[in-house]
Amino acid sequence: AKCGPDGIFSKGEILPFGNIALSPSAAVLNYGQGLFEGLKAHRKTDGSVLLFRPEENAMRMINGSDRLCMPAPTIEQFVDAVKQTVMANKRWVPPTGKGSLYIRPLLIGSGAILGLAPSPEYTFLIYVSPVGNYFKEGLSPINLIVENNFHRAVLGGTGGVKAIGNYASVLKAQRAANQKGYSDVLYLDAVHNKYLEEVSSCNIFVVKGNTISTPAIEGTILPGITRKSIIVVANSKGYKVEERPVSVDELLDADEVFCTGTAVVVSPVGSITYLGKRVEYDGKQRVCDVSKQLYTSLTSLQMGLVDDRMGWTM
Ligand code: PMP
Repeated sequence: AKCGPDGIFSKGEILPFGNIALSPSAAVLNYGQGLFEGLKAHRKTDGSVLLFRPEENAMRMINGSDRLCMPAPTIEQFVDAVKQTVMANKRWVPPTGKGSLYIRPLLIGSGAILGLAPSPEYTFLIYVSPVGNYFKEGLSPINLIVENNFHRAVLGGTGGVKAIGNYASVLKAQRAANQKGYSDVLYLDAVHNKYLEEVSSCNIFVVKGNTISTPAIEGTILPGITRKSIIVVANSKGYKVEERPVSVDELLDADEVFCTGTAVVVSPVGSITYLGKRVEYDGKQRVCDVSKQLYTSLTSLQMGLVDDRMGWTM
C-alpha cells in the first residue's frame, strides 16, 4: 500500500515476492526513514492459523511513525493487511510445534527527496518467511557478552521505536560477539554504562528467588510485545515482576536470566561475560526453571493448545 502527502494509505494488493523499485534518492535509502515490525503466525492442530497480538504491532508502528515523521496505516489497515498476507501464504505456515511463519511489516519513506526532510511518499509492505528457532541453541541456554564500548540507543534517540537505523548501530558489536562464539550482545545504558538495556533483538529478564526484574521502558529500549505478555504470564504464575533500572551487578547473583522476543520467544541465558569475567547460570540450582515454565505457557497460547483467556490470539 502507498500513501502521498494526505497520509491515507491505498488499499494495497498481494504481489509475488520480488524486488521493489525505489529512487536512489528515496528517503529510506538516504536518511533511514523506515520502521519495521515482526510477528508470527502459528498453525493450530486443527490446521487453522493463529496470529498473536497483531494490534500491538500496529500500535508500536503508529508510535514509531510519529517519531520518524511518517504517516502510518491504521490499526485496522495493519491487522487486515497482515491477515491477508498470511492467508495468501497459508501453506507456508509450518505444522504445530515445527516453527512458525514470521511476518515482517515495513513502513518506508519511499519518495524521492534530496535535502533532509520527511519523504513526500510512503510505502507499507509486508513479507513473510517460515522460521524455526532463532538461536541455533533452541531452548538450550545462550551465551551473551555485555558490550562496554558501543551503545544501542541514547535517551531522546530512536531506541524506543523499531526504526531500521537502530539495527545498523548494533551490527559491529554483534559480529564481533558472534566471532568470539557468543550468541548475542547485552547492551548497557549510555549514561552510566551500568544499567541493563536489552539484547540486539530481544528484552532481558533477571530472576532472583520469586522476583523477576526487567529494565523499565524509559525511551531507550524497545517495548517488546513478548516482554509485555511475559510480565502478565509471570504475574499469573505468582512471580513478582519488577520493571525498574537493573544494574549489571545484579547479574552476578541472579538465579536465572532469560531473553524475550518474537523471534527468540523465551530464551534462557547460560552465561554472561562482563569485563572478561564469565558468570554461568547453567549448573545452578534452578537451571532455566522459570524460563522453561514461561516458554511453555506462552507458546501453548500462541499455538492454540490452551484456552486463550487473555484474548491475545486471533
Ligand atoms: N528489542 C529489540 C531491539 C528488538 O528488535 C525486539 C524484536 N522486535 C525486541 C526487543 C522484542 O520485541 P518483541 O517481543 O515485540 O518481538
